Amino acid sequence: MKKHLPAVLFLLAAALLWWLSLAPRRHQMPVPEGQKPRVVTSGYVPYTLAKQLAGGQAEVSMLLPANAEPHSFEPTPGALVTVKNADIFIYVSDRIEPWAKDILASAGEHTAVVQAAQYADESDDPHIWMDFKNVRQIARAVAYALIQKDPDHRAVYQANLKAFETEITELDEAYQTGLASCQSRQVVHVGHLAFGNLTKNYDLSLSALAGSSHDGENSVRRVTELIQFIKENQIPAIFTEETLSPRLSAVVSEETGVPVLPLYTVEHVSKADFDRGVTYGELMRRNLESLQRGLGCQP
Ligand SMILES: [Zn+2]
Repeated sequence: MKKHLPAVLFLLAAALLWWLSLAPRRHQMPVPEGQKPRVVTSGYVPYTLAKQLAGGQAEVSMLLPANAEPHSFEPTPGALVTVKNADIFIYVSDRIEPWAKDILASAGEHTAVVQAAQYADESDDPHIWMDFKNVRQIARAVAYALIQKDPDHRAVYQANLKAFETEITELDEAYQTGLASCQSRQVVHVGHLAFGNLTKNYDLSLSALAGSSHDGENSVRRVTELIQFIKENQIPAIFTEETLSPRLSAVVSEETGVPVLPLYTVEHVSKADFDRGVTYGELMRRNLESLQRGLGCQP
């Protein structure tokens, strides 16, 4: 009998591991009955998606103040407590929010963490939500997390997800037809490199003033190069980010005589838009209108 002991112990250990793997972990367990899941998001992209998918069934808040840009934010000690108490924490990625690592360490045992970038295709441009395919996948992951935390409202979350997916399909079609025939396909953006995934998908080329963060690398040399480029290539219009100082684009516009149109990164929005709860779809429709006007596309 004794010689079988190691084998018996091994089987027992294996059975225990198997049983533990079946038991739900705390971060997968639903919130107590009658309680709304508390969803905390890093910035506006996951915030607006969670709001739309929860449709009032969850308490959604975001760490980043409205109108603050996400790449160089520094979380307050209060933010760590907020995440510790969250049922769901959603962020985009370490590339977009380098500060998310510190936040994650303080997530509570019961906090389900959704990292949006896990559901996106590989891309050089970390602004993954500018690709409708990615947004669809991210929305599914968010809806799944809501259902897991609040299974009683599964039907609501599923219906909201379905409506959102229809909206994304319609947006994609509007971009395809709306940008099919344009005088120019060159998007010149006096801002940071946030629209690479969008321009790539609709066969537009992109030149931006700065790199993929807002770290103020707008050297005089780069501005001069951009002005030169606009003149040499008969660029009909330039685009800027609403939340950037309008001075720079005004200078470029004055030097080149071309108009300035807004593009919305969604990662940060104006206070007014935040207060009225502007959605991802609305901002992307505004972007399409700007692109059509600026590039001279046939309606
Ligand atoms: Zn950005």
